[in-house]
Amino acid sequence: MPTYKVSKVSSTCRRKGLALRVASLGGVAVMPCSACAAAGSLCVFSPQYPKCSECIRRGVPCDGNFSEADFDRLESEKRKLEAALWASLARQRKEAVEAESLGQRIESLKKAQGAMIAREAQSLEQAEQEERQAQQANAALEVGFDEQQLAAFFGAPEGSCSGGDNLQGSQG
Ligand SMILES: [Zn+2]
Ligand SMILES: [Zn+2]
Repeated sequence: MPTYKVSKVSSTCRRKGLALRVASLGGVAVMPCSACAAAGSLCVFSPQYPKCSECIRRGVPCDGNFSEADFDRLESEKRKLEAALWASLARQRKEAVEAESLGQRIESLKKAQGAMIAREAQSLEQAEQEERQAQQANAALEVGFDEQQLAAFFGAPEGSCSGGDNLQGSQG
């Protein structure tokens, strides 16, 4: 009487079976996965499973399944990044314009300060010149008229001159 060893079907066998079914039911990929491309084997995908028949059979990861959903996900991610990039560039341009405007305002303030300094210097020079002229006029007044001349000019009071008494006394 024969004895049967009851064993589970190995996963290798199941993989091979699945690979065969995918290979028979699936379609050849427009672009083979990198494993099939490297091995030169036919890359066949079933729409229901993301691995090609060869990668299923060999039990290796498969990167060749073209998934519209994955592609669309990448596309929407890419569009988000593009929008962020445009926004960033727009901000940069706006900030560059603002920076230029600030620079122009700073320059105009510097010019205004320069004009203030020039006006103040001119005013100071004029004031100094006027002071010099006033000093010269005072000096001319002091040098040009001594006390006697001033007394003669303004009229000295009678008998106030000390020299006059002696003169009158000697005469009398
Ligand atoms: Zn493949
Ligand atoms: Zn593959």
